[in-house]
Amino acid sequence: MKFYTFLLASGLFCSTVNAQSVTDSQQVARITNEVLLNGTAYQNLEYLCKKIGHRLSGSTAEAKTRNWAVQALKEAGADTVWLQPVMVPKWTRGAESLQIKKGKETIKVPMLSLGNSEGTKGKVLEAEIVCFETMEALKNAPETLLKGKIAFLNYPFPAHFPCTFDGYSEVGGNRYNGPAIASKKGAVAFVIRSLSTGVGSYDLPHTGVMSYGDAANKIPAIAIGNAAADSICKWVKQDKLKAALKTDCGMQGEVMSYNVIGEIKGTTDRYITVGGHYDSWDVGEGAHDDGAGCVQSIEIIRCFKQLKIQPKNTIRAVLFANEENGAKGGRAYADSAVAKKEVHTLALESDAGGFSPRGFSLEMSDTEVRLVNSWKKVLLPLGLYDFDREGGGVDIDPMRKKLNTPLAGLVPDTQRYFDVHHCEKDVFEAVNKRELHLGAASMAAFIYLADKYFN
Ligand SMILES: [Zn+2]
Repeated sequence: MKFYTFLLASGLFCSTVNAQSVTDSQQVARITNEVLLNGTAYQNLEYLCKKIGHRLSGSTAEAKTRNWAVQALKEAGADTVWLQPVMVPKWTRGAESLQIKKGKETIKVPMLSLGNSEGTKGKVLEAEIVCFETMEALKNAPETLLKGKIAFLNYPFPAHFPCTFDGYSEVGGNRYNGPAIASKKGAVAFVIRSLSTGVGSYDLPHTGVMSYGDAANKIPAIAIGNAAADSICKWVKQDKLKAALKTDCGMQGEVMSYNVIGEIKGTTDRYITVGGHYDSWDVGEGAHDDGAGCVQSIEIIRCFKQLKIQPKNTIRAVLFANEENGAKGGRAYADSAVAKKEVHTLALESDAGGFSPRGFSLEMSDTEVRLVNSWKKVLLPLGLYDFDREGGGVDIDPMRKKLNTPLAGLVPDTQRYFDVHHCEKDVFEAVNKRELHLGAASMAAFIYLADKYFN
C-alpha cells in the first residue's frame, strides 16, 4: 500500500495501477507471442554467423556486416536507417605459434594473441618462463626477476560466484593491465591463463583486449588455455622452462567505421536506444558476443512494427561499432546525441549472451529503479525476476556519463557464457533459438513499458 502511495504521489502512474497492469500484461503477452512465433532474430543470426562470420573492427567482414545490418533493419520495418561515422582502431592477428621447450621435448601449445597486442614481427622470441599465481605476485616481483624473461600469469577464473560476470569483473583487469606491468618489470612477453570458466573448452585460448598503458616497451601478450596453463605452471616448478613465441599481430592505425542505426519514429522528440555491438573478435563467429544483441535489437523494431505499436519515443536500434578493442562506437553515438541536443529517455543494451533472460541490470535513479520494479508482475511470465544488478553496457555507458540517460542491460543466464566468450566456440550452434527469442521478447516488453512510463 505504502509503495503504491509513493508511486501515485510521485506522479509516475497516471491512472490506477490495476487497470494499467491488465493492459500491460496483455500487451506483453502479445509481444511475447509475436517474437516466439514469428521472430526473425535466429535466422538473422544464422546469416550473420554463417555467411559473414567473425568481424573484427576495420576488417572486410565488418564492412559486409554493415551492408547486411542496413538490409535487416529495413526488412524489420525501420522508418529510417543510416550509418553514423566513427574512426576505429584496426588490429590484425597474422600467423602465430607458441612452443614450450621442456628438456629435449618441444610441446606446441594452442594460443591467441591478445587484442591490440604487438607481435614478435614474425621472428622467434625465445625466453625462460616465470610463473605468477596472482596479479599481486607479478606486481611485487623483484626488478631483476623478469629481465629478459616471459611473465606468465596463471590466476584462474574465480568459480565461486553464482553470476559468472562477477568472476570476470575480478580478473578482467589482469588481462587488460598485465602486459604493461610485466613490460615495466623488464619482461619480453606476457602470457595469461585464459579468462574462461572452461567447461567444454578447457584447453582453448580465449582472447580479449589488453593495453600497454604508459609502458614504453610494447611486449607481445598472449592467452593460453586452462589445461596448458596448469601444465606449464607445474613444469616451471620442476625445472627451468623456455618458450618460443612467434606472432605477427599489431596495430594498423585507425580506419573509418560506422554505427548502424534504424529507428521507428515516435510521437515526441525523445529517444529510446536499444543495441548491441556488431564487431567481434577474429575467432569463432561472434554469435553470443554480440551477434545475439544485434539481432535481438533488430527484432524490437520488427515486433513493434508488426504489432503496430506506436511509441511516444523514437525507438532506435543501434548496432555499435568497435566495442571489443576500443569502444569507439558507443562514444561516438553519445557524442552525436550531445551535439544534436537529443533527449534520451532510456538506453538498453544486450551484450551478455543470447541465453535465457533472467532480468535487467539498472543504472538509473532510485525513483526510476522503483518504477521498473513495479513492472515485475507484468514481466514475470517471461521468467524475469532479477532487477538487482547495476550497470548498462559498454556501448551505452557514455550516454550515462554525458547525458545522464537511464541505462538497462539484459541479464541472461550467465553459466555458459565464459565457456565460449572470445574463443572459437562462440558460434551460431551455441545459441538456442527459444532462449534468444525470449531475450528479444523481454527487451521489447521492457521498452514498451519504458516508453509508456518513463519520462
Ligand atoms: Zn560483447
